[in-house]
Amino acid sequence: MKQIYLDHASTTPVRPEALDAMLPYFGDKFGNPSSIYPLGQAASDAVAEARETLASVIGASPREVFFTSGGTEADNWAIKGFSHANSAKGKHLITSSIEHHAVLHACEALEREGFEVTYLPVDERGLVRANDLREALRPDTILASVMFANNEIGTIQPVRELAAIAHEHGTAFHTDAVQAFGHEPIDVDDLGIDMLSASAHKIYGPKGVGLLYVRKGVKLANLLDGGQQERGRRATTENVPGIVGFAKAAELAAVEMASEHDRQCALRDHAIRRVLAEIPHAKLNGSWESRLAGNVNFSFEFIEGEGMLLQLAARGISASSGSACTSGSLDPSHVLLAIGLPHEVAHGSLRLTIGRSTTQEDMDFAIDSLKATLENLRMMSPLYEDFKQGRAESVIEKLAADGFPYTS
Ligand SMILES: *Cc1c(COP(=O)(O)O)cnc(C)c1O
Repeated sequence: MKQIYLDHASTTPVRPEALDAMLPYFGDKFGNPSSIYPLGQAASDAVAEARETLASVIGASPREVFFTSGGTEADNWAIKGFSHANSAKGKHLITSSIEHHAVLHACEALEREGFEVTYLPVDERGLVRANDLREALRPDTILASVMFANNEIGTIQPVRELAAIAHEHGTAFHTDAVQAFGHEPIDVDDLGIDMLSASAHKIYGPKGVGLLYVRKGVKLANLLDGGQQERGRRATTENVPGIVGFAKAAELAAVEMASEHDRQCALRDHAIRRVLAEIPHAKLNGSWESRLAGNVNFSFEFIEGEGMLLQLAARGISASSGSACTSGSLDPSHVLLAIGLPHEVAHGSLRLTIGRSTTQEDMDFAIDSLKATLENLRMMSPLYEDFKQGRAESVIEKLAADGFPYTS
């Protein structure tokens, strides 16, 4: 049976060019970058070249790029490392209520240490309101952290405006750009970003490697004490193959960004139009306009998300019903609740994320399968029976009447 992978926000396959670039560093170029003989220097040169490539992709200087084990580590380092190094100036942070758990749980850990955190709400389209940030800033606010693009509903935040507001108050600005890096143009100077997190495995690089951009002059506590790697701030022998693969993936993503963005936007919009036209009691979650090219996220009434995912999997379609970290738990996604969805609607949600290999034919097959799946599930649903008999109301119809956009 044909397998259609529509979960690229969760992870991506390593592209062959990145794998080819990595392989020698597992083999005959295995040296330790800290060694002075040629084998070590070749590895050290490869890491330096990768750092330059990755810095240039975001308009940074190589000295501002620090390698990490992934997006989660970069987020933790930015938030905890910055707070620990700057707590004499204040102990208040601001973030949004729709951040990835890497940011939210890092903030909660700081709260247990005596820091205070304000979690900004989002509007019904999943966007942070600039005015909410302005009003939340206090004299003791040291850091604002708002994600570039959301991993569940794909909404792209007004980062330039948010960073400018933070700076007016002397507050530093971090962004979790794991979903945007390599997909959206990012220039850290132009946008006013002080710290930025990215991860290789979301852009066809290997798992287990990421980066934290730290603007020159920004104080950060060391993450790992040990040797002199990463200029003494994150010791441990470098993940040379991973770093090389990350740089190759980022370099190619930059070359392909504009064409791939347009191609994926067309697929995304086609999917949204088809679902809203052909499937009743459906709702697009998150802004349509300010949205990643590869993300669609819908809620469907009268069905259970888990049942939908299992039936789609049986038809060869890999999709997700929110973030991978929350599947397995029965709590609805914190992101879908934050945009104002009632629990029963949030439970019936589906995320399809498009990648380089996704074709229009794949997308049409997925939507056809989705239609059949939902018809199946609704046929067996007592809730749907009640609705058809006029004994229950449609929550999505009520949301639409309240002004929620993009419903059917
Ligand atoms: C995937 C993801 C992360 C975590 O990245 P890892 O490299 O898997 O640790 C953090 N933030 C966002 C927005 C993500 O999508």
